[in-house]
Amino acid sequence: MNKQDYKDPAKDTNDKVVKSDTQWRQILTTEQYTVLRQKGTEPPYTGIYNDHFEKGVYHCAGCGQVLFQSEAKYPSHCGWPAFYDVQQEARIIRQTDQSYGMVRIEVLCSRCGGHLGHVFEDGPPPTGLRYCINSAALKFVDEKINPE
Ligand code: FE
Repeated sequence: MNKQDYKDPAKDTNDKVVKSDTQWRQILTTEQYTVLRQKGTEPPYTGIYNDHFEKGVYHCAGCGQVLFQSEAKYPSHCGWPAFYDVQQEARIIRQTDQSYGMVRIEVLCSRCGGHLGHVFEDGPPPTGLRYCINSAALKFVDEKINPE
């Protein structure tokens, strides 16, 4: 695990986290670095949060920003943690990803620019969205946060 302090997640999404490649390598595990900084994908059904349904909050493993809440996590059986909603829309960036001969919508952390996963339109109500996120991009914390 990296050395980030998750107790004080960013309230201000304009508070960008910018680090050099060397710095990212120092604070992230190899797995986290591969996903977050090199847009890697962990093998399906292997991530630590794939079958994890505790109540709490999922932070970005790169910068600590709160991204998802356990209330929006559901068993998609797709092999990766799946959420039907983000904690705040401003905390993610969507961009078109045309790699591997597919057109997908990539999801990145708005604060550090880390790659999180992709969003698909085959999720459950109320959004119909499935945020398919790598476990390695997340850090779960057993806490409650006030609605913002
Ligand atoms: Fe981040």
